[in-house]
Amino acid sequence: MDHSANASGLLEGSDIGSQKERVVTEEEWLQKWEVGNIGFHKEQGHPLLQKYLDVLLNGKSGLRIFFPLCGKAVEMKWLADMGHNVVGVEVSEQALKDFFSEHSLPYCEEPVPEISGGKMFQSTSGNISLYCCSIYDLSSSIVGKFDGVWDRGALVAVNPCDRQRYASLMINLMEKNSSYLLVTVSYDPNKHKGPPFYVPESEIKSLFGSCCEIQCLEKVDDFSERRKQWGLDYFLEVLYMLKFVA
Ligand code: SAH
Repeated sequence: MDHSANASGLLEGSDIGSQKERVVTEEEWLQKWEVGNIGFHKEQGHPLLQKYLDVLLNGKSGLRIFFPLCGKAVEMKWLADMGHNVVGVEVSEQALKDFFSEHSLPYCEEPVPEISGGKMFQSTSGNISLYCCSIYDLSSSIVGKFDGVWDRGALVAVNPCDRQRYASLMINLMEKNSSYLLVTVSYDPNKHKGPPFYVPESEIKSLFGSCCEIQCLEKVDDFSERRKQWGLDYFLEVLYMLKFVA
């Protein structure tokens, strides 16, 4: 097994154990939103985006930023308020409606002709466009290409058997020289079934290495009582910067 020591000196394996076969269906996600089982949502936003915003934006304004599997991430409002154009995708209509109402943002709703049953919710100001459909229904002909991505709770929420498909789609949606901030999680995958799923660094390299420079920016201890109740004894968030060179 391929092991590398992480920041806290723990050994990180490339084996994801039984998580390989685990599948969470769209209906299960919708159910989580319905019953309010959304412990992943961060009301105050994510400190790592605050800290590394400059790395993502690189001093540029008016960027198109993509939020895959966006939930009701408050960072979409931050970036729109800074003058960027935000596009998100999320299967739960409730999540998207909650996003607009919790920020008191007026919006309109329209069908997406290319996607059966797909809808797009757009802020009246026009700078936040949230697609309600599966991410796998999107393509660059529908949403265009992006200058930046904030991927938190997205790759780690994708079923492990779909990671290759997800990464190929993301690669297709990126402009040349664009920046992709990716947050993964690291813990013992034999002790918790996920999501979030454990994504080893070796897998990031095999998914994105052919077209990106990959840099690990930070590993943060994010252990909590909630994680302890999952049966874990350590839990890290790992932030990567992917730079699309090809
Ligand atoms: N990124 C958000 C949400 C993370 S939880 C945050 O950081 O808060 C993962 C989200 O992905 C859930 O809201 C779930 O409803 C959504 N989701 C799961 N599978 C999806 C898919 N195939 N396409 C679009 N959204 C999906």
